[in-house]
Amino acid sequence: RKPRVAVVFGGRSSEHSVSCVTAGSVLQALDPERYDVVPVGITKDGRWVLESPDPARLTFTSADCLPEVDGSRAGVALASAAHSSELVVSEPGGSAPRTLGEVDVVFPVLHGPWGEDGTVQGLLEMAGVRYVGAGVLASAVGMDKAFMKVAFQAQGLPVLPYTVITSRAWATDRAACLEAVDSLGYPVFVKPCRGGSSLGISKVRDRSDLEAAVEEARRHDPKVLVETAAEGGREIECGVLQGFGTNPPDTSVVAEIRIDAKHEFYDFAAKYLPGEQTSLDVPADLPEQVVTRVQALSAQAFEALGCEGLARVDFFLLADDRLVINEINTMPGFTPSSMFPRMWAATGLDYPALVDRLVQLALHRDTGLR
Ligand code: ATP
Ligand code: MG
Ligand code: MG
Ligand code: MG
Repeated sequence: RKPRVAVVFGGRSSEHSVSCVTAGSVLQALDPERYDVVPVGITKDGRWVLESPDPARLTFTSADCLPEVDGSRAGVALASAAHSSELVVSEPGGSAPRTLGEVDVVFPVLHGPWGEDGTVQGLLEMAGVRYVGAGVLASAVGMDKAFMKVAFQAQGLPVLPYTVITSRAWATDRAACLEAVDSLGYPVFVKPCRGGSSLGISKVRDRSDLEAAVEEARRHDPKVLVETAAEGGREIECGVLQGFGTNPPDTSVVAEIRIDAKHEFYDFAAKYLPGEQTSLDVPADLPEQVVTRVQALSAQAFEALGCEGLARVDFFLLADDRLVINEINTMPGFTPSSMFPRMWAATGLDYPALVDRLVQLALHRDTGLR
């Protein structure tokens, strides 16, 4: 039989809708001649449901109409006994559960906590199911901007100066937290450690706005990262794909994001909402040696975290020509108009080929301890 691929999307993070939009495109791109595709939604409160096979409704139409997983649909679960990759469906009416059979690959198109952070990956490891993308550790480190910096620094990769504000430090030694930020020098960026899509991020110009920004970030994660702003820096990104077998990772062309002046930075609206004037230059207009260095650093960042499958590495090219790594995303935004697929399309791998490669990489993955 054809390999059965479960596309899992939605989820409990604030990037629920972004994940739905990505899933809509992935579902459309998977070739039904090659794969038996099962759409599985996770509602915002964490229930798994067998979603509609019609991906058309999973799109962004406007800021107040973001797509969501349909919680009224039949429940679905990975059979709960350890080491079973069967999907079991229970209809809301209470009739006996029926099985969809073994799943060969799960494509967790999930962004943010409970999805991109190693938790779903751990569940799939326990069930012995192959899946697309980074494993438990790489997902968890990639999700946590504080540990990500530690891993990059340990490999000698360039990052911006930063300080971490834990929940306890904020509660018990506020003055020390504020002082640590002051000594970075303003402006700074304040971010939830485990977030995405720019949610909860603010740029802070002086001490007077700092506490409010930390509280805003804390609404997304009790652990907060504050880092020096890359003033006047250019925003550069590069895609990485794992190689088959023992081949090294491949890197895509390098792209640049140019944001309309009405946005202070690449915030949620500039990223996703229709009608925004964000331009993605794919490829970026950069000297050849900068491109080569971005690609080399991207592959090193991928390997520094032990990533698998895919990642998008985000950089700043500073005014003095230094490159610093901002972050890595182990499950980057993935609609055809998103940066990651566009960079690969410009490299010669179109959207359906990219999705196919990711599923094939997952089918070739070892299960068991790693
Ligand atoms: P993603 O959707 O890429 O996962 P994220 O929520 O993980 O985003 P970042 O990529 O760290 O967040 O930051 C979001 C945006 O904020 C960046 O693309 C950039 O525009 C701006 N930004 C973040 N940190 C800095 C910085 N130190 N200096 C300047 N701009 C920054
Ligand atoms: Mg990110
Ligand atoms: Mg992200
Ligand atoms: Mg980013």
